[in-house]
Formats: sequence, C-alpha cells, structure tokens
Amino acid sequence: MQNLHDPAVIKDILSRHGFTFSKKLGQNFLINPTVCPRIAELGGAREGSGIIEIGPGIGVLTNELCKRAEKVVAIELDSRLIPILGETLSEHKNLKVINADVLGLDLKKLVDDELKGLEVSVCANLPYYITSPIIMKLLQDRLPIKAITTMVQREAAQRLCAPLGSRESGAVTVAVEFYSEAEKLFDVSRGSFMPSPQVDSSVIRLAIRENTPDVGDEALFFRIVRGIFTLRRKTVLNALSGSMGIDKPAALRVLERAGIEPTLRPEELDMQSLAALCRAYVEECAG
Ligand code: SAM
Repeated sequence: MQNLHDPAVIKDILSRHGFTFSKKLGQNFLINPTVCPRIAELGGAREGSGIIEIGPGIGVLTNELCKRAEKVVAIELDSRLIPILGETLSEHKNLKVINADVLGLDLKKLVDDELKGLEVSVCANLPYYITSPIIMKLLQDRLPIKAITTMVQREAAQRLCAPLGSRESGAVTVAVEFYSEAEKLFDVSRGSFMPSPQVDSSVIRLAIRENTPDVGDEALFFRIVRGIFTLRRKTVLNALSGSMGIDKPAALRVLERAGIEPTLRPEELDMQSLAALCRAYVEECAG
C-alpha cells in the first residue's frame, strides 16, 4: 500500500494520471497522517459497520475506513479520480466506489442495496462549496444512520454546532439540532491539506436522534424557521409577519399563544420556543 499522506507519493500518482486539482470541486486532499485514522475511529468504522464516504479524492480516508469497517461505499463526483482510486485502493475487497453527485443520489436505496444489516454511518472530508446542502440532504432524507462525522470549514463547524439561542445560530443550526446532537471533535490546520486552503477546518460529529422534537407539521416548521431567520436581526414579531405574509395583529396572536416575547430576535429562540411557534401558527393561521 502506498503512503497516501506523502505529498511526493500524491504528486507521483496525480502526474501519472494527468490529474490537476479542481478548486471548483473543493479538492483539498489530506496529508496530515493523524487525521484520517481519528475520523475513522470516531466515525464508527468497525466490525459490523457500513460506511458511506462522500468525496474520497485519492482515497486517503477511504483506506482507513476500509481497514476498519465491514463495507465502505465511496461516492465521488470527479470521474478523473475513479481510475486513481482503482489503483490506490485495489487491495480492499470491501469497497464500492460510485461515480456520482451525492446530491442527486437516492441514499436510502443505496443503504438498502449495499449496506443492509450493518450499522451505517457517514464519514467525509466534505467539499466546502456544498457543505450545507450535503448535510441538509443527509439529515432530511431521514436515512437509517447512526452519525455523520465530517471535516468542515472551521466557521461552518461553529455555526453547525452553535447552541440554539446564540448569535452564531442560523436556520441550518436549527435543522442540525432538530435531527441530531452536534459536537465539535477536533481542529485541523490548513497545513494538513494539499493544496492548502485559505481557511482552517474542524471535524464535527452529528449523532442522529432517534426521536425528533414534536413540531406538528415538519414542512411548515422548516418554512417558518427559514423565513424568520432570513430576517434574524429583526424582532420575531416583524420577522414572522414579514416572512410568512401575515399582518402584525395575527403574528402577535401567534406569538402570544406560543408564549414568546415579540421583541426577541429569531436567533434568540430555542428549540422549544420554535416548536411552540409552529404549533401556534397552525392553530391561529392554518386551521
Ligand atoms: N477525502 C479526500 C481527502 O480527505 O483527501 C478528498 C476530500 S476533498 C475536500 C472533497 C472531495 O469531494 C473531492 O474528491 C471532490 O472531487 C469530491 N466532490 C466534490 N463535489 C462532490 C459531489 N457533489 N458529490 C460527490 N463528491 C464530490
């Protein structure tokens, strides 16, 4: 097995395959040898586990996952990397590589077809240009998975793991909190990648909840959350009225029913208040 952390080895593989990095696809490959074993261990790769990896690149994390998990399914968009992965990971018989855009895949079917009976988790060093859409898809598809353990941009880690009610929280924080318990595991410096990105990174884990909060109508809940967070610096009274297209007296009645102070900012609301807001909206406006 070649040392896939070694920049000289990486350069040799890439030049033999005529591969050049695509900035557009977020291609920054890990060269720090301590990071991938930690992601694999903390991400649940072990006997009896099935791992979905998003964006294997040349396979540095994939290798650590294959060494530990029962089966690994790696999804890579860039077709130029498929023959490279065929070379670098040829010794692993428990790996399936799929050449596709993860955002367009039916992941429930993939779990059913490829990982049935295993304890499934997602592990990744995600392409930063689509971190949020990928995390939202993984959560909202309600996949039968234990956890998502992934490298993200440090700033995104702060937002995704922020406690609700804090200034860093946003609509995506609400979604993460709704479906999972988020935790920052460790920081990774920009020098750990080739090429080195402009930003530092962190590894986070989202442990998927078995039971999600009772918000009544889930689709409406996320419509309200997205709406009020686009006006997050306004009062919740103005944000609710402005984003949902209801007049102020109606918005006030909703907030009163939910027990929410109308002068608060949307970003100050915790999960309980947001859930109460959705239920009150249904009773006042949609009933
Ligand atoms: N796992 C490798 C590592 O840690 O060295 C590479 C990580 S790199 C940050 C992100 C990888 O995601 C790249 O290989 C890129 O081609 C791939 N990628 C980008 N967009 C993708 C998409 N929509 N679906 C699947 N893979 C994608």
